[in-house]
Amino acid sequence: MKNLSKFKRHYFAVLFGLIVFCCQPLTMNAQTAIPDGERLKYFDSSYEDCRQQFISDSKQLSKKYNDVKLMKINVPSKLDDELFVDVCYVPAQGNPKRLLILSSGIHGIEGYVGNAIQELFVKEFLDDKLMEETGVLLLHGMNPYGFKYLRRVTENNIDLNRNSGYDNELYKIINSGYGDLYDFLNPTDAVRAGSMKNRFFFVTAIRKILQASLPVLRQAVLQGQYQYTEGLYFGGDKQEPQIAGIGPLIEKVGTDYPIIMNIDLHTGYGESGKLHFFPNPIEDSELKKQTEDIFKGYQIDWGDSDDFYTITGDFSGYIGKLLAGKTHISMTFEYGTMDSQKTMGSIKSIHNMILENQGAHHGYKRTKDQKKVEKRFLEMYYPSDPKWRTKIMNQSSEVLNVALQQFNSL
Ligand SMILES: [Zn+2]
Repeated sequence: MKNLSKFKRHYFAVLFGLIVFCCQPLTMNAQTAIPDGERLKYFDSSYEDCRQQFISDSKQLSKKYNDVKLMKINVPSKLDDELFVDVCYVPAQGNPKRLLILSSGIHGIEGYVGNAIQELFVKEFLDDKLMEETGVLLLHGMNPYGFKYLRRVTENNIDLNRNSGYDNELYKIINSGYGDLYDFLNPTDAVRAGSMKNRFFFVTAIRKILQASLPVLRQAVLQGQYQYTEGLYFGGDKQEPQIAGIGPLIEKVGTDYPIIMNIDLHTGYGESGKLHFFPNPIEDSELKKQTEDIFKGYQIDWGDSDDFYTITGDFSGYIGKLLAGKTHISMTFEYGTMDSQKTMGSIKSIHNMILENQGAHHGYKRTKDQKKVEKRFLEMYYPSDPKWRTKIMNQSSEVLNVALQQFNSL
């Protein structure tokens, strides 16, 4: 009887997996925007190019505005002396009322899109009117190792958006749901992309989903974990150097301003070609209203949908704690790439992450496995499709136009 029900479950899982698989459109990334050269010029192809662009733009700002400060934090590395978080602070030119913190590359490889958005902001939105009473703090390439070497995590395999603890309590958190999934998420052999296990990954994943449910699994996987140093979503056992380094700077700059908004730039999660808005959970109804007013007309994901999950040690929450007592509005801009709000997209997405992490720790059977896995990983966080790129730039431009006007009237 037991064997029969096990067989039934397995059969059902395979059948369900095949149905879901067959129902997926062939091209998940079909976009509608017409590629626009003016938008595409913001996208660079190396960490060095992005960095030089940011420094050059910052120098232009220092010629135009008073007391602009350019700073950099060198991130220690065993293999590269040229890894920097670059910071540009343009103070409010008159009475300081509001501070905007715009950060990129918390997840290294996501820094390419983050860099493009920061450049868009500087070139098209940072003007005399905004700077009258608003200060701007730009944090570029928070995880320069991942940015340069195309990983999401730091050189220590740490996810900075799970590592930003205000105190050491964070690193004591035990995510027991993750422990149950550890072997599934973190295989220990060299990667062979076309192995049976990988070909039928979606079947295994569907079985896990049937056993638990997608929201429960998503929460266990994505929340963050502090026990497994080689595992996905590892948050470390202390602050990474750039998190420790940026904290005092944010506190110092924030002192002058009663109202702070931080926008942290990410890619990878959600509907392909769509900008999603993820705020930190807010108890204060007035603050929630202010946030809704700033992003008027846009759908904010407040955590009441099935595809929502909470995380520990995120960077925006850390900024809020550093600036406690002030009005703090935080928003994560998440540019979707894989339709991961849907079951199949979310399975493909986690599979890409598993293979890349497995390869980084245990190597690849053949060079072609490595090329395949790394290409898919890059595409997931930095899509090459000019239509995708144009579309997200158009949306960002529209949103910034509305949000900055609203913010400037607070
Ligand atoms: Zn991210």
